[in-house]
Amino acid sequence: MIILDGKKISQEIKKEITETVKSIVAAGKPAPHLAAILVGNDGASETYVGHKEKDCHEVGFRSTVLRFPDSISQEELLSEIVRLNNDDDITGLIVQLPLPKHISEKDVIETINPQKDVDGFHPVNVGKMVSGIPSFVSATPDGIIELMKRYNIETAGKNCVILGRSNIVGRPMANLLSQKAYPGDCTVTICHSRSKNIKEICAAADIIVAALGVPEFLTADMVKDGAVVIDVGITRVKADNKSGFRLVGDVKFDEVSIKTSYITPVPGGVGPMTRVALLKNTLKSYELKNN
Ligand code: NAP
Repeated sequence: MIILDGKKISQEIKKEITETVKSIVAAGKPAPHLAAILVGNDGASETYVGHKEKDCHEVGFRSTVLRFPDSISQEELLSEIVRLNNDDDITGLIVQLPLPKHISEKDVIETINPQKDVDGFHPVNVGKMVSGIPSFVSATPDGIIELMKRYNIETAGKNCVILGRSNIVGRPMANLLSQKAYPGDCTVTICHSRSKNIKEICAAADIIVAALGVPEFLTADMVKDGAVVIDVGITRVKADNKSGFRLVGDVKFDEVSIKTSYITPVPGGVGPMTRVALLKNTLKSYELKNN
């Protein structure tokens, strides 16, 4: 069994990005600039945006976080997005989700200029991705594809099961793995909360991507020998330790890992690859504009 070390690979990618940024700056050009909009005081959102800021600084990007109170109107938020769309100094623009109930996530996403949509959520980017046209792909599926590439995981003709059908993970993942590409060329099945016989479907899979948000859902009896298991899930569960919690994936790691050929750990697998995918997209946006 080989651990798919997302932490190590993401560090390698960060080094590659850092080198590219150094040569951009050495040529007298400004470094890529990521703007993040944060609405309200949600603790998890604060943490995610904090990570994004830290990652930007690590690779030499400029980063700006624009904070707004919960009370901001949709109109005000949209006009802020338009302002950033029109600001030539901003390379990429993300709006941290979720948003307060009175603001439509759909309207917000559709207002972002697709060329600055480094989260890959805009329908133009989703449509391009589905059509196999180069685009910004949402960070988690993009990170998983990159991880598979870097470990040369064979995918052509494999039976792949995706657990979860969210717009940001399950569905794009299923689409990418079914494309005529590497990694890809899989025969893909998507399972969700209404699916029947999930156990049998998983047991026939060569590759399983678990993205449900149900801690330790995937157990050893659901996995065939030699399968590749990618664990996207990350849930905080109470624990008797200093922090009072531990992070648990959607896979029962101890019993599943011994049956697999490759598996991602939680933490240290998909998480760091998701973070670095946003940096990759930001650099891509910069290069598309400036080359
Ligand atoms: P989501 O939007 O809540 O979607 C979960 C999906 O799982 C839904 O399609 C749901 O089915 C399905 N599901 C839930 N319980 C199920 C069950 N018992 N049996 C079968 N299907 C079930 O979640 P998400 O945003 O895709 O995230 C999934 C997990 O990945 C979460 O733990 C999240 O924290 C984690 N995540 C991690 C990263 C990372 O960087 N590591 C990034 C993104 C997400 P229905 O559609 O029928 O409701």
